Amino acid sequence: MKSGWVDRDAEAIVAEGAKSGIDRDLALRIYTTRLFGRDPKLVLHGGGNTSVKEVMRDRLGADVEVLRVKATGADMAMIDLAGLPAVRLSPLRKLRALGEIGDDELVGIERASLIDPAAANPSVEIMLHAFLPHKFVDHTHATAVLSVIDQPDGERKCAEVFGGRLAFVPYVMPGFGLAKKAIEVFERAKPSDGLILSKHGIVTYGESAREAYERMIEMVSRAEEFVARRRKTTAAPVRRGAAEVAHVAPIVRGACSEKDKTIEGAWRRLVLEFRATDAVLNFINAKDLARISQAGVVTPDHTIRTKNWPLVLPPPDPTKLAEFARVAHDMAGQFAVRYHRYFEQHNARVGHIKHELDPLPRVVLVPGLGLFGLGRTKRDAEIAADIAEAWVEGVSDAEAIGRFESISEADMFDCEYWPLEQAKLGTRKEPPLAGQIAAITGAGGAIGAATAKAFAAAGAEVALLDVNFAAAREQAKTIGPSALPAVCDVTSAASVRAAFDAVASAFGGVDIVVSNAGAAWQGRIGEVDEEVMRKSFELNFYGHQRVAQAAVKIMLAQNTGGCLLFNVSKQAVNPGPNFGPYGIPKAAELALMRQYALDYGSDGIRANAVNADRIRSGLLTADMIASRSKARGLSEKDYMSGNLLGREVTADDVAQAFLHQALALKTTADVTTVDGGNIAAAMR
Ligand SMILES: [Zn+2]
Repeated sequence: MKSGWVDRDAEAIVAEGAKSGIDRDLALRIYTTRLFGRDPKLVLHGGGNTSVKEVMRDRLGADVEVLRVKATGADMAMIDLAGLPAVRLSPLRKLRALGEIGDDELVGIERASLIDPAAANPSVEIMLHAFLPHKFVDHTHATAVLSVIDQPDGERKCAEVFGGRLAFVPYVMPGFGLAKKAIEVFERAKPSDGLILSKHGIVTYGESAREAYERMIEMVSRAEEFVARRRKTTAAPVRRGAAEVAHVAPIVRGACSEKDKTIEGAWRRLVLEFRATDAVLNFINAKDLARISQAGVVTPDHTIRTKNWPLVLPPPDPTKLAEFARVAHDMAGQFAVRYHRYFEQHNARVGHIKHELDPLPRVVLVPGLGLFGLGRTKRDAEIAADIAEAWVEGVSDAEAIGRFESISEADMFDCEYWPLEQAKLGTRKEPPLAGQIAAITGAGGAIGAATAKAFAAAGAEVALLDVNFAAAREQAKTIGPSALPAVCDVTSAASVRAAFDAVASAFGGVDIVVSNAGAAWQGRIGEVDEEVMRKSFELNFYGHQRVAQAAVKIMLAQNTGGCLLFNVSKQAVNPGPNFGPYGIPKAAELALMRQYALDYGSDGIRANAVNADRIRSGLLTADMIASRSKARGLSEKDYMSGNLLGREVTADDVAQAFLHQALALKTTADVTTVDGGNIAAAMR
């Protein structure tokens, strides 16, 4: 590992800081914190923290000694001044006299000691930074260091690798107790460079930001070299087909879902993120996977993201996926039972004061294929997968130099259920479609794009499918980094299959499909070309059938129900003059929706339709509005708002109707009318 320090960059950040009154030490504190944050081998997703001690003038003009320490959960790569709240140092140091202190009381004292009362909560490891006397203190969970210290003889290995430059602190749960233990060890051993926190991580310190940072780099490099010399070389792993991921993922996802006990028909689902690097494949194909996979986390704060152990499934045989589904379901059930037992046992130990978290796995290993990270959002799934990859590397290297050993199950429980760790995950109320995956066809157009936005705002992960990939990508960009654009020509069975494979690979499956792609053809029915009728049926009828079929296949594999939504338009029930080539396949689409509701209701799959009218879109263009209004003998304005309410209907109105149908768990075979009122198009 090389130092990322660049004098020019450091001076640039000092100069930039000077403009807003940030002194040199603080600017360099920000600089090296960002250097740590950009290397996942040093820190991952809110793990690790840094601090600087300095004197600042408070609001009353008095000079006070403060500790600026990373805010809890803050991303080091993006740290700014707000991510380093300043806390008065002297009250913190006085706490050393106490034998112990409760979390609430400690957080209360920290908050009362903040210079800015509105600042973010400081890191849970604040007391470690406060007690150490050094100006700059850095703490990471560097993977290579964990491989060296997560060992039965971690202390001996630590001495071998780091010499006397880091002193060894035996395992204590993060927080006040660890800070007291660490300062005791420091005062006894007076190590020159820092501390090893057994089974947890490394601390380095220095009188300058650069000194503390480069000591960290040097120590981590020593660990990397020690491991690299002993790492076994393994043959390149065999990679299986990508299509297989698309077929296995929905089974895994379904097995790792649970019924919502409070609402009939509702499920608690997770989103998946797939990884299959060489390191992952070598790990999951190892002979002793059963032992090493269950040995525990590499550092305590990973447990809130990955739980203590992953679910390990058997290798799937692509020709026997039904059998794989049955086994996966049983094993996920056993995982939940084991988790519940673990909770009960340790909750009893602490006096029954904790509330059980959901018992679903957050990491699933599938030998031969890869690993899945699971989370309530795509982002959470990615974080779980990133941490699982670091865990794979840490455990593999620990095994190469000895034998991996984690903290005890009781210690893992104490971290998993520590309120200050849980606080890192936030307490926001979940949106109604959290954990669900929605695919929308024709998502590059007005109604499709509005629907994708409405579903994303309701918490779903969205896939935007369109024959025009650039249009889908443009719309996806406005939603966010997790929104998936994919090319999908609904007139081609192969294209539809490929699009749904892409959705299942990216998210793990699909729960809601909005079959919306369509285009209009006109012609007087007795004279229209048969070719025009066939073209329209290909898109406006068979297109929906292909999409629904591809979706149902995934939904059945998940076995957690689902929701098919069709844009049938008012033409399905109220034909317009010379509009037969469009209206007739739309009427067949309405019958298609009812057939899906009938045939798949017993599988919990609902099918509903929205009957919308006159929405400005790619289908109803300005030219179309001109010609349709002329055909009806109306002005364009009267044509667009020619309904009982006299209001123009928008793409957002249609999107809200689809959203309502997605949420109405007791409704199937329904048509919701969104047309401002048109008695001739009323359903009967
Ligand atoms: Zn830590």
